[in-house]
Amino acid sequence: MVGRAPRPGLPPPPPPTPRLPASPPPPRPVRLAPLGKAVCNWPFGDPQDDDFHFCEAEAEPGKPYCAEHCNRAYTRSTRGEEADEAA
Ligand SMILES: [Zn+2]
Repeated sequence: MVGRAPRPGLPPPPPPTPRLPASPPPPRPVRLAPLGKAVCNWPFGDPQDDDFHFCEAEAEPGKPYCAEHCNRAYTRSTRGEEADEAA
């Protein structure tokens, strides 16, 4: 191997075209209870179903969910259903 001559005739491959990211879904507004408190947005059931509803417990300050559902949303535990009465 002598030197490093560029290989003629072979153009560099074109850079991969970046895929445009899909537009993110619009942020869901925090639902407010009549008292002006934020309520839990945790969905129950299928949005297509008639009985679809939200938890609507009082949400944690600055969070879209109540304390219980914050735990579920932010810690993916494998413990399954576990009722923890401790506040
Ligand atoms: Zn909740």
